[in-house]
Amino acid sequence: MTIAPAPSPVALLLMGRDALARSERGTVCPGDLPPASDPALVERARAAKAALGDRLFVLGHHYQRDEVIQFADVTGDSFRLAQEAAARPDAEFIVFCGVHFMAESADILTAPHQRVVLPDLAAGCSMADMAVLDQVEDCWDAFTEAGIAGGVVPLTYMNSSADIKAFTGRHGGAVCTSSNARRAMEWAFERGSQVLFLPDQHLGRNTAVRELGLSLEDCVVWNPRRPNGGLSAAQLRAAKVILWAGHCSVHGRFTLDCVTEVRARVPGVTVLVHPECRYEVVEAADLVGSTEFIIRTVREAAPGTAFAIGTELNLVNRLARDFPDKPVTYLDKTVCFCSTMNRIDLPHLVWSLESLVADNVVNEIVVDPATRRDARVALDRMLALADGPVTGD
Ligand code: SF4
Repeated sequence: MTIAPAPSPVALLLMGRDALARSERGTVCPGDLPPASDPALVERARAAKAALGDRLFVLGHHYQRDEVIQFADVTGDSFRLAQEAAARPDAEFIVFCGVHFMAESADILTAPHQRVVLPDLAAGCSMADMAVLDQVEDCWDAFTEAGIAGGVVPLTYMNSSADIKAFTGRHGGAVCTSSNARRAMEWAFERGSQVLFLPDQHLGRNTAVRELGLSLEDCVVWNPRRPNGGLSAAQLRAAKVILWAGHCSVHGRFTLDCVTEVRARVPGVTVLVHPECRYEVVEAADLVGSTEFIIRTVREAAPGTAFAIGTELNLVNRLARDFPDKPVTYLDKTVCFCSTMNRIDLPHLVWSLESLVADNVVNEIVVDPATRRDARVALDRMLALADGPVTGD
C-alpha cells in the first residue's frame, strides 16, 4: 500500500523574501550579512564567540551544515537541544542553529532573562507549517459536531509550532518525539478512546500500526484543505487514530523503489531510516529510529557494515566522513538537503554573533506568555511520560 504525502497547504514562499503571520514560514531577514566569499568568516565567528565567552551558548542540530556545526557548543536533535538550552541558566544568549520551532521550544524551556536567537528567521520547517492553529481549531470544532471531542486526546510531534503545542496542552494532550511516540500514544489511549496525531501523518501511522498493533484502517487522515477534513462524521467516529495530513519534505521523498534499488546495488546493505518516512519505506527497512538512534547504530556497528540511510543529507554525509570503515550511502540517489535547515550558514551565524558582541540582539525568538504557559504544559507531560532517552527529529 502506497501512502502519498499530502501537499503543503500553500506553495512555499521564497524563503527570506516574504512573511506569513503565525507561521514557521520564511520571514525577511533584516541582516546586513557579510559576503559568503569573505575568507575571514571562520576567524570572525571564532573571535565573536571568544568575546562573548560564557554569556553565549551555541546549539547545533544534526542537520546543520559543517560550516555551522563546527561552532556549536553542543550538537543534538530537537529535544536534546531544548534540554541543553534549559540546562544553561547562566547563558545570556542562546544561539540556535536549527529551525524556528526548535528555537521556540528553547525559549519556552529557558528562563525569561535568556534571549534565544535564530540566525536566519527564514529557517522554518515545512512540516510544522502544515498545521496552522486556525485549521486545528476548525478540526476540533468538527470533532465536537461529530460528538467525539470529549474522547479525543491530541498528540503533537515536537516538530510543530508553539501555538500547536499550546493547543495540545489546553486540550489535555502532550508533545511527543520520534523516540517516545509509542509511549505517548499508549498514554493518550489510557486517557481517551481516540488520538489526534499532528502534524506528521507518517510518524503517527508508523507508531499506531507498527508499535501499537492497530490496523491501517484504524487510521484516517484529516486533510485541512477539504471540507470537514475530507471525512464523514461516521468515519471520524469509527477511527482510532486521526492523522493530520502533514509530512516532512525531506523524509517523505524516500520511496519503496529507493529501498529496492539500494538493496540491488549494495549487497548486504542495512537500510536505516527515520520514522518520518512513509509507512511502506519503514516496513521495508531493516532498522527504524530517531536521529540519535541512527547515529548510535552506525557508531556501534561492526567495521565493514554497509548502511543506506534515509534521513537528512548533512547528517548522512557527516556519518560517512566520521565512520570511513562503515560504508554509508544515501537512500535516495537524488540529493536533497533540508532547505530550511540549510538557511543557517556562516554569514548568518557571523552576523548574529557580531551583533550580540555589539549588544544588539537580532532575530530574537519570543513566545508570548499565554502560548508559552500552555505549550509548557504539553512539554512537561512529555517529560513526565518519557521512557528511556528522549530524542526527536
Ligand atoms: S528535516 Fe523535515 S521536519 Fe526537519 S526541519 Fe526539515 S522539513 Fe522540518
